[in-house]
Amino acid sequence: MKYSWRIGRIFGIDFYVDSSWFVILILFTWILATSYFPSQLPNWPPLRLWIFGLLTSVIVFASVLAHELAHSLVAIKHGVTVKSITLFILGGVAQISSEPREPLQEFVMAVVGPLTSFILSAFFFLGSLVGLFVSPALVAIMSYLALINLVLGLFNLLPGFPMDGGRVLRALVWKATGDLKKATKIASVSGQVFAFVLMGLGIFQVLMGGLSGLWLVFVGWFLHSAAVRSYQQVRVETRLKGVSAGELMNENFKTIPSDLTVAQLVDDYIFKRKERVFVVTDEGQLQGIVCLEDVKATPRSEWPRTTAGNIMTPRVELKSVTPETSGEDVLKSLAEKDVHQVPVMIGDRVAGLIRRSDVLRYIKLRDDLGS
Ligand SMILES: [Zn+2]
Repeated sequence: MKYSWRIGRIFGIDFYVDSSWFVILILFTWILATSYFPSQLPNWPPLRLWIFGLLTSVIVFASVLAHELAHSLVAIKHGVTVKSITLFILGGVAQISSEPREPLQEFVMAVVGPLTSFILSAFFFLGSLVGLFVSPALVAIMSYLALINLVLGLFNLLPGFPMDGGRVLRALVWKATGDLKKATKIASVSGQVFAFVLMGLGIFQVLMGGLSGLWLVFVGWFLHSAAVRSYQQVRVETRLKGVSAGELMNENFKTIPSDLTVAQLVDDYIFKRKERVFVVTDEGQLQGIVCLEDVKATPRSEWPRTTAGNIMTPRVELKSVTPETSGEDVLKSLAEKDVHQVPVMIGDRVAGLIRRSDVLRYIKLRDDLGS
């Protein structure tokens, strides 16, 4: 989300564009202005080709937006909150607050996007027929938009989670088995298989001398990482459901005084006790947290003169949780601030620490126990 810009708000949903989208906008305009339009409209001057290239690209952009909006509106109608939509290189990703509750809801939510693209495609195709009686430019623009929307609809129907087609597949398996986790796994594996098939086809094409096969390799790679990532996310979310911070926390943490020098900390604590995180307390009062990263950020020559109090993340900047905080919120806290651990507080006292590794270990344990 770092390189994306907010472009507006529709139906209470924030719309963002990812930086990669500008690359695609320029690429589309360039292809249209230098190859597609010149072949259809040979008498047009370059400036007009570029202006119409850009205009057509913007309509492609609006088509992707309409596709995503269709998903979101159906989601909202089913009581799912859609926070934001980010438009990426190959479409959009909606930030929805929760997983769908039942298969039919997921099916309708997923299928309505490609359906919108197909309807738009049919609409632009009709436009191109009208253009036959009006102007060759209209035919060129409309038939291009019809083709792009058709491709957009078909591409999104590829049966790999988290693509729309993968969601459709997941909804069908979910309906058949009644098991969301299993359905997600099957839809994700299907996505990975398709990704490899696409990459294989792309590599074959490149070997046969067709450089455009690189596109397929790229799309396959994107699909594969999306399939793996979204499955892991679902897995973690289902594993952490109903788990509280109190269950995740590690109570065996070490405390150090704030006037301990970094040199002493390294010699007496980090090397001897193999710990990476320390809670800084003076007379039982929490002052802050020091972790290995803070030590690494301090020049070695300063270690004898610098104290833990100098390099710690002070208490006011710490994002703490209580033992009752849900596992999902703990994960959010870890991700939001990009920190490696959060302290669990009971009143003014540190009851435990939750590191990323604690969460992962908990999930692994539950996986191993098959519960
Ligand atoms: Zn879609």
